[in-house]
Amino acid sequence: MRIARFSHNGEVSYGLVLGADEAAAETPGSAAVPATANGAGTANGAGTAAVSDSQPGPSDPDPLGHGGGQLMIAQLAGHPFGGREEDIKLTGIRFALADVRLLAPILPSKVICIGKNYADHAREMGGEPPEEPVIFLKPSTAVCGPGDPIVRPSQISERTDYEGELAVVIGRLCRQVPADRVDEVIFGYTCANDVTARDLQARDGQWTRAKGFDTFCPLGPWIETDVDPADLALTTRLNGEIKQDSRTSLLLHDVRSLIMFVSQVMTLLPGDVLLTGTPAGIGPMDKGDQVSVTIEGIGTLSNLVTDRD
Ligand code: MG
Repeated sequence: MRIARFSHNGEVSYGLVLGADEAAAETPGSAAVPATANGAGTANGAGTAAVSDSQPGPSDPDPLGHGGGQLMIAQLAGHPFGGREEDIKLTGIRFALADVRLLAPILPSKVICIGKNYADHAREMGGEPPEEPVIFLKPSTAVCGPGDPIVRPSQISERTDYEGELAVVIGRLCRQVPADRVDEVIFGYTCANDVTARDLQARDGQWTRAKGFDTFCPLGPWIETDVDPADLALTTRLNGEIKQDSRTSLLLHDVRSLIMFVSQVMTLLPGDVLLTGTPAGIGPMDKGDQVSVTIEGIGTLSNLVTDRD
């Protein structure tokens, strides 16, 4: 499943993102209402010509990384966390994805990040990879969604970098998770950008300020619950040009060991997010740039960069 959080006419909901094939093949009794619930005209394609709030320009012909086609969103009743998959209920209302604004797919209580978890990135930062995972936190207030601006604190920092990363979304309260139970606590995966004020990171020694500005944790475009994170292509583009190009198989500490490690330290709550680290190729962003993080099997997270007034 692809679970998105979205707003339509000011109402915020969760929804199931459906490709055209899935929408047509919907079984009776589940989402079971024709796709015109609000008169937005999804079935006949009206509204699809509109430019989505959520996404980018001509340099990215498949901005959501889904392979094209018209995507729909089927509204969920309530939220999908904490229960079983079969308990997820649809309201019967659907929209064309182009007619809604995608939001950060989750508002976590905390964002736990892993530093230097790809060898090539550790080396480009001037060191060898640490033996144990290095963890740090981003405040929940750093989270923003697909299409939201990344706001550079330009009076405070002279260099704001992108870091494309695979993000894990926790589904259940858990602590001290053993290896054979990690799968039970993972809800799904999304794309993240661990935006970093690189000069402040070097100056401060610890990273809270450099990593913690508002908008420094874009997440999205949605949560994919059915993907195996073991070997996914991860690509970061700046204005369409590939800057980071790696695979999650190169993670020094994989998702399973990271969940075990972090949950030895702190209790994880439903909706908490774990950023697994960035590969080599980090670099600065300027005002007006568009940055996109694409992960195979999940989608593309795109944001524009602006400066704080
Ligand atoms: Mg990072």
